[in-house]
Amino acid sequence: MNDTKIQKEIISVLEDKIQLIKREAGAIYLVGPIRLPVNLDGETVTFKWYCWLNCDEVTEDYERIIEKLSSENLAEYQQSSVLVYGDFEHGENALIRMHSICHTGDIFGSKRCDCGFQLKQSMKMIKEYGTGALFYLANHEGRGIGLFSKAMAYVLQENGYDTVDANVNLGFVDDSRNYSDAIHVLKALRTKPVTLITNNPKKLQALENAGMLVSGRTPLWGDISEFNEKYLQTKINRSGHLEQEGMPLHD
Ligand SMILES: [Zn+2]
Repeated sequence: MNDTKIQKEIISVLEDKIQLIKREAGAIYLVGPIRLPVNLDGETVTFKWYCWLNCDEVTEDYERIIEKLSSENLAEYQQSSVLVYGDFEHGENALIRMHSICHTGDIFGSKRCDCGFQLKQSMKMIKEYGTGALFYLANHEGRGIGLFSKAMAYVLQENGYDTVDANVNLGFVDDSRNYSDAIHVLKALRTKPVTLITNNPKKLQALENAGMLVSGRTPLWGDISEFNEKYLQTKINRSGHLEQEGMPLHD
């Protein structure tokens, strides 16, 4: 397209799929649903995918927002998204997972943590349950310290520090994750209560404090190995995660 002015037709196609969610300051622009067939263990499962963008400008003139996209260098700032399954808006019960991005675990399949397992497993659980959503939170790497700092923290961990001490020694609080955007999006997609997939009651509490209606919690443990045993034990000992009966972890 030569003209910088975006064609009317493009705008009208996109407008139907954009939702403005106002916040205390600024707004979230939610785009979707987009049909997303996914390979889950060889089976094709179709999710509805939404992605969102935070913006200081609050406008329902989406043309203004669309015009700005190409100059905003968005690839430098990863956006979050959500995979929705079933009748999420109306279904009586829904299972949700607030999944923090983990470059090493989700993408490379690193066994230093259990994130890759949790990601795939929660997608399967949501599909089996029939209704639910998986929020993939892009600004939560390393519990909110970012990928580069996480590499530093791993170096410290290889030198005897546990995952909490490593973060603290780099000047971070142990867990700086914020769920406010995700909850705004959740509320735009569903107003009924949800069951949260998590081992962490603090996360449940944080989400309730932020206004999420929670009807229950479903634990998610698995893929425990010699490589992540210490990490998982630290989550239980220091970060308040609830151990499941029969878990093969040592003290
Ligand atoms: Zn991880």
